[in-house]
Amino acid sequence: MAPVAMSRWTPSLSEARPVSYWLDDPGRPGPEPALTGPETCDLLVVGGGYSGLWTALTAKERDPARDVVLVEGREVGWAASGRNGGFCAASLTHGLPNGLTRWPDEIRTLERLGARNLDAIEETVARHSIDCDFERTGEIDVATAPYQARELGEWYERIRSEGLAEGIEYLDTDAVRDQVDSPTFVAGLYDRRGVAMLNPARLAWGLKRACLELGVRVYEHTPALDLRPHGGGMAVRTPYGAVRARTVALGTNVFPSLVRRVRPYTVPVYDYALMTEPLTGAQLASIGWKNRQGLGDGANQFHYFRLSADNRILWGGYDAIYPYGGRVRAEYDDRPETYARLAGHFFTCFPQLEGVRFTHAWGGAIDTCSRFSAFFGTAHAGRVAYAAGYTGLGVGATRFGAEVMLDLLAGERTERTELEMVRRKPLPFPPEPFAWTGIALTKWSLARADARGGHRNLWLRTMDRLGLGFDS
Ligand SMILES: Cc1cc2nc3c(=O)[nH]c(=O)nc-3n(C[C@H](O)[C@H](O)[C@H](O)COP(=O)(O)OP(=O)(O)OC[C@H]3O[C@@H](n4cnc5c(N)ncnc54)[C@H](O)[C@@H]3O)c2cc1C
Repeated sequence: MAPVAMSRWTPSLSEARPVSYWLDDPGRPGPEPALTGPETCDLLVVGGGYSGLWTALTAKERDPARDVVLVEGREVGWAASGRNGGFCAASLTHGLPNGLTRWPDEIRTLERLGARNLDAIEETVARHSIDCDFERTGEIDVATAPYQARELGEWYERIRSEGLAEGIEYLDTDAVRDQVDSPTFVAGLYDRRGVAMLNPARLAWGLKRACLELGVRVYEHTPALDLRPHGGGMAVRTPYGAVRARTVALGTNVFPSLVRRVRPYTVPVYDYALMTEPLTGAQLASIGWKNRQGLGDGANQFHYFRLSADNRILWGGYDAIYPYGGRVRAEYDDRPETYARLAGHFFTCFPQLEGVRFTHAWGGAIDTCSRFSAFFGTAHAGRVAYAAGYTGLGVGATRFGAEVMLDLLAGERTERTELEMVRRKPLPFPPEPFAWTGIALTKWSLARADARGGHRNLWLRTMDRLGLGFDS
């Protein structure tokens, strides 16, 4: 790899450990033993991220007598669920703009189900005493250029006129800077109830503990190697054992699906984040961040940022890297040139914090699908269900996806399974070199739009018309 060009900000990264801050926790629990020998169960859950954990937990909560096994290829929470920004949003549709464009007729139902889902997460965290710093602080989308402020204002008027702006407030320059003071902020939209901040890895570990307490048998370092019909159910091989199950739920996210035909629906897009050292009281006061809400800025290539429980700032986003061939590889998790760029953007946003150092810098793969919100389905005559494609907004929505998978496996028609969003799939990605070329052209066009007052070129307008535009 070519050396990263030195900038004024590179010294701030000199001690940053290339690991997720959340996973670098002395409280990290040890793994459960791997499966050795044969297992049988009613429901086998594959994957120990939020998708799998919520599925196993919810299955037990729906029916405590149900026999549930979860297998995780490495350790619970090691992947996206232990590396994300910890923005736990009510939105099931990668934000209201994305949902309103794609499912205008059912957006009210989706918003209601999403709010209920976030309430249920809050209740579950409390009921199982999951120590994950859950704070329902809300989030501000900030405009950092006059054209973004104009677009934000127009958007606010639209959702207000459609009755979709409950709990959302428009902030002018003074009002947004009164919440968090950056010279780059021009306006904001403050959603006070629809987003919570949490410690992502601790949520995963807490869900694992809750699963174990309810009697789920969890096997870590146990990849499911294949999946085939067996008798009236399914059989899965693992390195040292095998599982026979009546039904199987796949929560395998960006990793190659055990149902091959699902694979073209997602590609890995790598996202990166930095964590600062804890801010002093004076540093925190200099940016006036009192209400602890999360923030995201309004460009196509956007940043997301928030405080941790001990007043560090997590600063992530902007670069979205798709590796040619679409493989998930550990080497992509670390990207010094992106860290340097993110550090520069951080100090542009908060010049008051000059001198602050980053302690952690990391990346992870996001399971991106062409409509940017999860899709669902079944295979093997309804004995296998899957949910994937959360595209960077799965902390909250994976719980909803778990409910959908359980409904589908039960063969039940519910309000969830009747949704068009659940019944219809996104367009799959084409093979290489078309996938790489299309994604590269989209990225280039989005960066150009950001530099040109938001003006979307012909490619982006065509993608928008085809329902493939990134509009969250
Ligand atoms: C840097 C970053 C920042 C993000 N920020 C946010 C955010 O702030 N808010 C938000 O809502 N979302 C965010 N996301 C997305 C969010 O983290 C994911 O949508 C969510 O964690 C997905 O959960 P999951 O369980 O589906 O996937 P994962 O956490 O990836 O879990 C899948 C698990 O399946 C296991 N697995 C795969 N195949 C097999 C197999 N064959 N056998 C056994 N196990 C298998 C893997 O080992 C893995 O542990 C972010 C993602 C990243 C990478």
